[in-house]
Amino acid sequence: MSPSPDNILRRVFGFDSFRGRQEEIITHVVNGGEALVLMPTGGGKSLCYQIPALCRSGMGVVVSPLIALMRDQVDALKQLGVRAAALNSALGNGEAGRIIEQMRSGELDLLYVAPERLLMDGTLSLLGECKISLFAIDEAHCVSQWGHDFRPEYLKLTILHERFPNVPRIALTATADVPTRGEIVKKLKLEGGRVFISSFDRPNIRYHVMPKAKPREQLLRFLKKDHAKESGIVYCLSRARVEEIAAWLAQQGYNALPYHAGLATDVRSRNQDRFIKDEGVIIVATIAFGMGIDKPDVRFVVHMDMPKSIEAYYQETGRAGRDGLPSEALLLYGIEDVAKLRSMIEGGEANEQRKQLERRKLDTLIGYCASPRCRRQVLLEYFGEPLHEPCGNCDLCLHPVPTFDGTVAAQKALSCAFRTGQRFGAAHLTDVLVGADTERVRQFRHNQLPTYGVGKEFSRTQWRDIFRQLVVHGLLITDMEGHGGLRLGADDLCRPVLRGEKKVTMREDATFALQREVKGKKLSSPDAPKGKPTLDNADDEQLFQRLRTLRLTLAKAQNVPPYVIFHDTTLIALAKARPKTLQAMAGISGLGTAKLERYGNVFLKAIVEHTS
Ligand code: ADP
Ligand code: ZN
Repeated sequence: MSPSPDNILRRVFGFDSFRGRQEEIITHVVNGGEALVLMPTGGGKSLCYQIPALCRSGMGVVVSPLIALMRDQVDALKQLGVRAAALNSALGNGEAGRIIEQMRSGELDLLYVAPERLLMDGTLSLLGECKISLFAIDEAHCVSQWGHDFRPEYLKLTILHERFPNVPRIALTATADVPTRGEIVKKLKLEGGRVFISSFDRPNIRYHVMPKAKPREQLLRFLKKDHAKESGIVYCLSRARVEEIAAWLAQQGYNALPYHAGLATDVRSRNQDRFIKDEGVIIVATIAFGMGIDKPDVRFVVHMDMPKSIEAYYQETGRAGRDGLPSEALLLYGIEDVAKLRSMIEGGEANEQRKQLERRKLDTLIGYCASPRCRRQVLLEYFGEPLHEPCGNCDLCLHPVPTFDGTVAAQKALSCAFRTGQRFGAAHLTDVLVGADTERVRQFRHNQLPTYGVGKEFSRTQWRDIFRQLVVHGLLITDMEGHGGLRLGADDLCRPVLRGEKKVTMREDATFALQREVKGKKLSSPDAPKGKPTLDNADDEQLFQRLRTLRLTLAKAQNVPPYVIFHDTTLIALAKARPKTLQAMAGISGLGTAKLERYGNVFLKAIVEHTS
């Protein structure tokens, strides 16, 4: 009889319970069901196919686009005693031959394979000779032609379904936006499967957005305050800035390394390797860095420059704190960046429709930066998952900004959008509200509307800002497909506002306040996250550091990242509980049978030595 998912979770992974919808998904796949799984980074997607692959007979085949990621996953699985291998172009012939032998003789539980390798005739017919338990398609959003991670080979993966109709497929992604979901189902022909959507909230990440004033100083303050000796990623918009900031951080005594597409391949992979295998390395990178890096203890992500969209921002900040421990994201928001991004869009090769989309995505991100509302509420609402209470763990929840009652302004703006047919953009609506006499106003006879000229109390710039904030609140929605007209948001949001039953709070002069702050010197520094990896006494902290050193030594000896041996969460639990026997140790999360056997005694010894 095959082992149960629960048994594997405890015995192999050393975890005592499933997270979120994992159990539901695993049961569905174990029973041969197909699925699309949407879960944020760090949500625990891997278990959703690893456990079914271990429960079902045969070998699980995991399609993964990035070699570094495969290597990491395979290293981690081997540490758990799982028979795993990766087949990709980075292998020598000898090694590939050995793996093929193992496949033929049924000695593998999990095989990771790059899509281009999988699609080769040789590989497909080889798979035809094997018993396959399931296909997992990781980073499934790579099928989306609109996304920034598009991989043409992903479109050809439907061949799996055609050639192996009886093998269930599970597609997984951390990309949250709704159109992409539909595209994945369609392009992979997953219509017969179930879709499992998890919450996209990352409660352990504290979001900060600050106007960019003296960026280096702001960065340094942020690092000094709370992130000494920790690993993190600092994103910059250009290669030149990456080089500059990395060199400057190194001068300041940080272990900082650059990463961008202009570096020689060997330098790039060496830097990435150090980030993964050493402790406390800061990578300064263009956005090209990060996908396929599974490092769970990235404690902070800084954007020195604006990202391109909320999706990109969420994906990049999401690389912090996969292990669930408190982490921080800092975005420095500057008006010059916005101008630079806008001109990049205008000067780009994309067609007009695409440019339009990019402009609006940028506007939405600006709205996020300028909003007075809880960051997490804005983000989650954008991904269609409203959060009813402010989160208490973002800069605005911790330090509210000056606001004004914008209810009447909102009512005027909404009714203006409504009466003009919900198809005009903010510029024309502003013209109507301030009573401007433009050709368009005359053409559409908007000067005869009751809302014509009712908004003279605000300037055009202020109205621009108000419209932006209304979009942020979800009261107005920018029509992304058409000409960028504004239409009313969900009925249950708009109606109470129009009836005066619900107040709309707006940030005072978001744009002006920002400019003032940039010109002046008001440079506040983000607060330390509450409840940092909870080691509340110095002796526990000391023991934790000692265990960390031991882990690094063991990792170096095997040339694997430290976290495949133990996560920080496990080390923290060990430092606090200080087990005296292997039996007591087995109760700690992250200590499955294989790891207990391999490392139990050395860690026990270190704990006993420290304690006695
Ligand atoms: P994702 O691929 O969704 O980004 P991972 O599969 O890498 O996330 O999981 C994130 C982290 O959470 C991993 O370190 C994993 O070991 C841990 N994890 C996943 N599921 C559980 C669970 N049920 N209990 C404890 N830890 C878990
Ligand atoms: Zn908040």
